[in-house]
Amino acid sequence: MRFSRRQFLKMAGAGALCLTLSQLGVDVSEALAYAKTLKIEGAKEVQTICPFCSVCCQVIAYVRDGKLVSTEGDPDFPVNEGALCAKGAALYSMYTNDHRLTKPLYRAPHSDKWEEKSWDWTLDQIARRVKDARDKDMILKNGAGQTVNRLESIFMMGTSHASNEECAVMHQALRGLGVVHMDHQARV
Ligand code: SF4
Repeated sequence: MRFSRRQFLKMAGAGALCLTLSQLGVDVSEALAYAKTLKIEGAKEVQTICPFCSVCCQVIAYVRDGKLVSTEGDPDFPVNEGALCAKGAALYSMYTNDHRLTKPLYRAPHSDKWEEKSWDWTLDQIARRVKDARDKDMILKNGAGQTVNRLESIFMMGTSHASNEECAVMHQALRGLGVVHMDHQARV
């Protein structure tokens, strides 16, 4: 019979623990009962990837009743061998964290307060301001008369919690508008 590294580690860990504790005369039944209440007990293992950079570390997502209950690095995947950097390790909290924003926040010029806004209002504002900036600042040709179609008055800063695919779409959309100044916090 062949075992994956993960299965081997689980079996070796459980076996060594039971052997050592029972040799010491410790009753492990309570600990085993507790283990059954662990959050991944009975959860389905789904292999996926961390979406936050092109290393694409493999992750095991534990899903119970259609809900994500935990994530961890996949020890069987040769690229990360179970390890995840801080961003990948925080994958689960990104899904569950109470601080996660679910509505747009807007801070008016010179204000020190954030206001909650609707998506309709926010998207209208973005569209209005991008259109105004392009109408005002679009550079069609450079000093040598070459076509450049460049917009230098908009800067885009991406979040490290945008996935590779989201970054690709944002990048293409902004290039299509002529935006040349953009960066991504994941590089920091
Ligand atoms: S962000 Fe970190 S955990 Fe995610 S793929 Fe990149 S290196 Fe791996």
